[in-house]
Amino acid sequence: DAMFKQGFLNEVYKERPVKPVITRFPPEPNGYLHMGHAKAIAIDFGFARYHGGETILRFDDTNPDEEKEVYFESIINLVKWLGFTPSAITYSSDYFQKLFELAKELIKKDKAYVCHCNETEIKLQRGGKEGKEGPRYRCKHAEQDVETNLKKFQDMHDGKYEPQTAFLRMKQDIENGNPQMWDLAAYRIPKNKTQHVRAPEWKMFPTYDFTHCLVDSFEKITHSLCTTEFILSRESYEWLNKSLEVYEPMQREFGRLNVSGTIMSKRDLKKLVEGGVVRGWDDPRLYTLIAIRRRGIPPGALLAFVNELGVTTAKTVIQIVRFEQTVRRYLEFTVPRLMLVLDPIPVTIEDVEETQEVEVPYSPKDPKFGTHKVRFTKTVYIDRADFREDDIKGYFRLAPGKTVGLLNAPHPIKATSFTKDEVTGKVTGVTAVFDKETKPKTYIQWVPDNSIKLEVRIQRPLFKSDDPKTVEGGFMNDINPDSETVYTEALIEEGFNEVRQKAPWPVTAGEEGGDSGPETVRFQAMRVAYFAMDSDSTDDKIVLNRIVSLKEDSGK
Ligand code: ATP
Ligand code: MG
Ligand code: MG
Repeated sequence: DAMFKQGFLNEVYKERPVKPVITRFPPEPNGYLHMGHAKAIAIDFGFARYHGGETILRFDDTNPDEEKEVYFESIINLVKWLGFTPSAITYSSDYFQKLFELAKELIKKDKAYVCHCNETEIKLQRGGKEGKEGPRYRCKHAEQDVETNLKKFQDMHDGKYEPQTAFLRMKQDIENGNPQMWDLAAYRIPKNKTQHVRAPEWKMFPTYDFTHCLVDSFEKITHSLCTTEFILSRESYEWLNKSLEVYEPMQREFGRLNVSGTIMSKRDLKKLVEGGVVRGWDDPRLYTLIAIRRRGIPPGALLAFVNELGVTTAKTVIQIVRFEQTVRRYLEFTVPRLMLVLDPIPVTIEDVEETQEVEVPYSPKDPKFGTHKVRFTKTVYIDRADFREDDIKGYFRLAPGKTVGLLNAPHPIKATSFTKDEVTGKVTGVTAVFDKETKPKTYIQWVPDNSIKLEVRIQRPLFKSDDPKTVEGGFMNDINPDSETVYTEALIEEGFNEVRQKAPWPVTAGEEGGDSGPETVRFQAMRVAYFAMDSDSTDDKIVLNRIVSLKEDSGK
């Protein structure tokens, strides 16, 4: 909770040290949440929780052209996944009538007018490009009397205007240096006359600038926390609540969280999904929250990361490797360990007469994980990468005449011979004997006969560069052709069944509120990587995703 105890968020609280604290997380239901939203969720919910208050999940659904049912559901699930419980789920559209009444109040106070100017005209009135091309002025509509404005506003409400032929504009302060005070739009008629799912009777809709501060006020939000793009909007936020003499929440702004080496904008992600470059919006190579969840990253690790970064007003651009380092550290102490072989070759150990059982701890770091039994069979499987046909200097794994240790097995083994497929040239089997004399330099993982077969997907960064959007020809020219390797013949020891049954494995870090589903079957495959079960798994076929490698830059 260091995030709330000191620094920016502590200062925000000190500016208004009230109880109870009420915050809101206000997503627009127009896309899937991404990693940046996790920061906003952690701040909005965490701040209220830290101060003994509560948080409303509010769908800012004022733009029917963009909204879809799936996004609502996904957002609710992800907030829960992160371990937070909203005190209420609300919708800006619930307040359309109340907002309409207040808009009429504003007109009566001569602080709003119905304007029929087009985009070009409005731009000119606002001083042209960046407000620097000419003097600012108001159009003739600003002179209309209250009666006319009320009548026209009612006509907008009744659907008597075509899209974009009438706006309600706030009469703010065009002398002010802040563009957010230059008579912003309060109501508009949507381009496509799209029907609002939750409010089908409405033909005009309030803008963000009109809605957000008022709904914050209706919901008695004490601290309205948002990202720094809204700094200039703070003045209009305060202006409207003051003008209408309603309860005034306090808006404060923190820096966004962006991730380098990937893209997060909806439009760009859509191209990847529709172009078949990835498996969907939740492809583990993406940084949407559904992708992060599917990849098996524990919510606690994501929150730990946000906490580590801290909160200031500066924008944070993080490198993927830095995030993975936190995930790795989190997993080290919270998941069991198993033996898995990606590309198996059989090794027959001549000295093994009958199968023995060895007792193996699930975690060398924490006895609380318990132990399980592994069969040590006459034929075991090792990874192709751990065998060489010719021994060389400095090589410490298995080769003819060379001894290697088998993790958790009774004795080291020495290879005596091997067989090869004449067509493919690939090694098909190795014969070995016990070597009780030599102390091996390396221990490798193995699995017994009759282990569980599965598919393993090793994902790597989807893009080659740190800033895919600046690559010539666009991000589509920056796709890493090796972003996924699939092993279809991988084997895992039977302990996997128990790990799967007990998932989510009892964790020692963080709170894991809504952490459920196949992706909570997480473990470390010794010497390989951290893995989680993929949602593509069926009764007959298990699929794993790599959560992170064991070490930074490990080539596997
Ligand atoms: P996007 O266009 O990326 O979807 P947005 O600003 O439209 O983002 P909303 O869905 O309206 O996002 O956001 C809900 C909340 O999440 C807002 O308070 C917003 O400030 C916050 N948020 C969005 N993106 C980030 C980010 N990258 N880092 C931190 N907070 C963010
Ligand atoms: Mg938005
Ligand atoms: Mg958004």
